[in-house]
Amino acid sequence: MKEDIVRVAKAIDFAARAHAPQRRKGEAEEPYVNHLAEVALLVAEATQGADANLVIAAYLHDTIEDQEVKHETLTAEFGRDVADLVREVTDDKALPKAERKRLQIEHARSASLRAKHLKLADKISNLNSILASPPADWSAERKREYFEWAAKVVAGCRNVNPWLEARFDAAYARRADLG
Ligand code: ZN
Repeated sequence: MKEDIVRVAKAIDFAARAHAPQRRKGEAEEPYVNHLAEVALLVAEATQGADANLVIAAYLHDTIEDQEVKHETLTAEFGRDVADLVREVTDDKALPKAERKRLQIEHARSASLRAKHLKLADKISNLNSILASPPADWSAERKREYFEWAAKVVAGCRNVNPWLEARFDAAYARRADLG
């Protein structure tokens, strides 16, 4: 629908501005918006463009967590459905990192189907980034630990989208290349 095209374009613009100073952790220091574009494309293709709000939420999925954008702002700009979806995939930064990581594994199982799509796409993008351009200060062990943790999160997101699962499994299968 025409209005969906406008809303998606608005989400890309909002995300690019919100994350403008942010870079990926990898050596290539890619603009953060590259990650958002990858996640959005993955969920768009996985759902054959059937869910505009899911694609919009993909562009915005790290705005609350990384840029302290308010849920109310997302509601005002993109509606409650998008804002709630972003909140559902947002970690509570008040908690210690280890606890946040544990909760991601736990919450994945009870997440909504759409949040599971987002989580799968996010982890695919992160594994691909670590394979293509790992952070300079990450040891092989740390990379492998990330892969194992991501697989545990994704275990709670199975049986929702075989195409995304296959993409995740293909990236995960390359963990032997991590050194
Ligand atoms: Zn992300």
